[in-house]
This record gives sequence, structure tokens and C-alpha cells, in this order.
Amino acid sequence: MRTDIAVVGGGVLGIATAYWLRATRDCDVTLLERDAEVATETTLRNTGVVHRPYYLDPVKRALFARTAGRSYAMWRRLAERYGLPWVERGTLMVAPEEDQMKEVEEYGRWAQENGMERAEYEVLDAAGCRGIEPEVRCAGAFLSKTDTSTDFASLARKVWELAEGLGARLLASSEVSKVVRTRDGLELGLGGGGSVECRVMVNAAGGSSLDLAHEMGLAAGYTDLHFRGEYWEVDPDAGPSVGRNIYSVARHAEFNFLDPHFIVRPDGRREVGPNAVLVARPDAYEGSGGVPGMLGKILERPVGPKLRLFSNTTFLSLVADEWMSSLSKKAMCGRVRRFIPALAPDMLVRRGLAGVRSSLIGDDGFVPEALTPSDDRSLHVLNFNSPGATGAPAFSEHLVGLMEEKGLLQGFAARTRGGFWERGGPGGG
Ligand SMILES: Cc1cc2nc3c(=O)[nH]c(=O)nc-3n(C[C@H](O)[C@H](O)[C@H](O)COP(=O)(O)OP(=O)(O)OC[C@H]3O[C@@H](n4cnc5c(N)ncnc54)[C@H](O)[C@@H]3O)c2cc1C
Repeated sequence: MRTDIAVVGGGVLGIATAYWLRATRDCDVTLLERDAEVATETTLRNTGVVHRPYYLDPVKRALFARTAGRSYAMWRRLAERYGLPWVERGTLMVAPEEDQMKEVEEYGRWAQENGMERAEYEVLDAAGCRGIEPEVRCAGAFLSKTDTSTDFASLARKVWELAEGLGARLLASSEVSKVVRTRDGLELGLGGGGSVECRVMVNAAGGSSLDLAHEMGLAAGYTDLHFRGEYWEVDPDAGPSVGRNIYSVARHAEFNFLDPHFIVRPDGRREVGPNAVLVARPDAYEGSGGVPGMLGKILERPVGPKLRLFSNTTFLSLVADEWMSSLSKKAMCGRVRRFIPALAPDMLVRRGLAGVRSSLIGDDGFVPEALTPSDDRSLHVLNFNSPGATGAPAFSEHLVGLMEEKGLLQGFAARTRGGFWERGGPGGG
């Protein structure tokens, strides 16, 4: 099979990229997805919060901040137009300890720098928090009133319908396992046999994207680790009556281990999670992926960045705590009880749907932004972690701009097919 542009990975990022390519260029686009359907991995397995960008450092996480900020209106318009889940509940980002109030104050500055309207947020003291959420205990909090609960898989499936309407094609159950250069493009070898020839490839393969970049000799100095985020459902007939999403300020921002949150799904189900349990593979939704698998992952090249991390005692103790919260419901509950003391382990009635985040690690430790290495035939998206689902519409629009800049769309005429989101338009970039 031949195609102009092969987008590898049918999650929210690959889907939205296929949408923009078909909406704006005269090229044939094929989405290759390993699973039988689109939007079944991280896009389905997450907290489902459309985040406002108050907690994103406008310098270190500028791309995530900008794309999350711009995507909000795009998702809202799509959800409203097609009747998809969209509940503007708000998030209370609490400082459990007094000395964490400086982070809360900083969020106020970042909210402004990242373009949030003043009416969207408030900085509250302890009494102010109790006034709106009586069961929450903290020194104070940042209230983001417009954070929204959704189901990203439903949103992504709708974007795929729109992309298909514009002429994009899906090749499901097709895992790209090998990439070979040809005279005028790339040949993508598929795991089950067969291959697809393309002129350009976009790698949006989520937790496997670094492997594919390495396969093409890119991002050789980077490695990754996979962390499973687990959830527990809270008993609908018991448990604290909390109406908003409750997050807590990160205690170790350099490692990006957050305490699990208390979240309210769009249908009213309440959950606690996610934790961040080190596992061997991006699809290890249960267990660890095995000891040999884990050792293989840790010793995978390049080893240096991981060894530096594993020689850090704070990191090792956090990894152990996360594993404890996987093995013990009481330990998981204890982490949320720091700010919702009324929550008890017997209120956590069943496990929710776990997801895995794959974090990129370089010489300076965890990488805070998404990276987009490229060559003359391919563009790769690495480290597309939270708030990736929030930012996917504008991030993928930005990717198409990058492809133009790098000459990857040369020969494909620009055209407007009248898609739902307009490039650079209101609620559309
Ligand atoms: C626990 C957790 C909670 C989160 N909560 C939020 C949140 O509340 N808000 C938010 O904005 N973000 C959140 N995120 C982040 C967000 O979910 C991700 O940024 C986003 O879903 C990533 O989308 P993706 O398309 O890159 O990845 P995916 O959805 O994983 O898609 C990648 C696709 O590529 C396919 N694939 C992989 N390898 C190959 C291959 N070789 N060939 C073909 N196909 C392949 C996979 O099957 C998969 O379908 C969360 C993430 C996690 C893990």
C-alpha cells in the first residue's frame, strides 16, 4: 500500500494531526493504529480533565501552556456542537502545607501570563476553601473555575469521524515495527506482515514513540520510563461530598510525582488517582511487566540518564511509595486523606481504568516539554504527556506548521476543505 503521509498512532494526537493534514493540504493521509480501533490507549485511560494552564510554567512548559490554553475553546465548541461530555466543574489545587502557598501564589501569575481571564480563577485561603468545599483541609488553594471534566476518547472519536469525512483513512490492527528508507520516502514494516510506503511519516505512537524515533536514529540521547497511573472508584453512596476536582501542589516538581487527586467524572462518578507506578512497558495495565522486562527497560540504551536517576535516593523512595500505593488501598487512600480527611479505605470500592504515562529522560532528568525531533522524511512527537489530551487540537495544528517549516509538506498544495476547526480561526487555533 502507498500513501503520501502516514500518521502512526490513533490516539488523540495522531487523530487530530490527520484531521489538520486533510483539512489544509492536498495529500493522501493514512492513520496506522496497532489496536483494532482508535482512541483505546492513553486517550481513553486518563483523568479526563480539560486543564486550564495555570500550573504550567510559561517558560519551561511554554508549548504545553500555549496549546492547552488555545485548545480549550476548540474542545468546548466540539463538545457543545455534538453533545459530548463537558462539565465545567472547576479544580481546587490545594496546598496541604502552609509552605506550599508560594506555589499557589505563583499559579496566579502563571494563569495571567498563560492568558487565562481574571474571572476564571481565585486564590483562596483556608477559610475560603472550607467555604466552597467543607470537607477539604488545606492552607489555601488555587481555584480554577473553568477546568472541565470530559471523556477524551469520545472527543477524539468525533474528531476521527470528521477526519474520515475529509478523506483520511484508517489502517487498524497495524503495528509499525520497522522503518526502512526508500528512494523517495519510507517503507513502514508492519508487525503482522506487509508494509506501507509513504513519503512522510508522523510518529504519534504515544508510549512507543521513542522506540520509533530511535529506530530512525533520532533522539539517541534520550530514554524513557513508563509509570502506570491507577484509580479507585469511590463508593457512590458514601464518601465525602466533594463537588470539584481536588488536586494538590506537587511536592517534588522535578520528578513530576503528584499525589493522587479526587476527581469527579462527567457522569458524577468519583475516583481517586492516579498514582505513578514504575512498570516495564507502556501497555502494562496490570502487574509490573515482569522482573526481566523491568531490568531490560532500565538497562536499555542510553543507560546514563536512567542510572543518574536511580542513584538519587529521593527518586528511589518515591518509586517505592508509588508501588506501596499500588499494593495497598490504605496507602493510596492515605495520600488523599492529607487533604480530604473524611475519605476512608473502605470507601474505595473498585479499581478504575489504569493508564500509563511514558516520561522522557535526558541528561538533566525528566524532560518538562514535548519534543519534536525530525529529519527529511519524518516528524516525531515525544513526551506528549499531561495535559496532552487537553492541548491536542492546537498542538497538532502546530505540528502541521512545523512540517511546513521543515519542508515535509513540499509538493502538497495548500487547500481548505472546510473542516470543523479552521486553522488560525476562532475556537480553531
Ligand atoms: C494516568 C493519566 C492521566 C492523564 N490525565 C490527563 C488529563 O486529565 N488531562 C489531559 O489533558 N491529559 C491527561 N493525560 C495525558 C493524556 O492522556 C495524553 O497526553 C494523551 O492521551 C496522549 O495521546 P497520544 O495520542 O499521544 O497517545 P495514545 O492515546 O496512547 O495514542 C498512541 C496510539 O499509538 C498506537 N501505537 C503505539 N505504537 C504503535 C505502532 N508501533 N504502530 C501503530 N500504532 C501504534 C497505540 O496503540 C495508541 O493507540 C493523562 C495521562 C495519564 C497516563
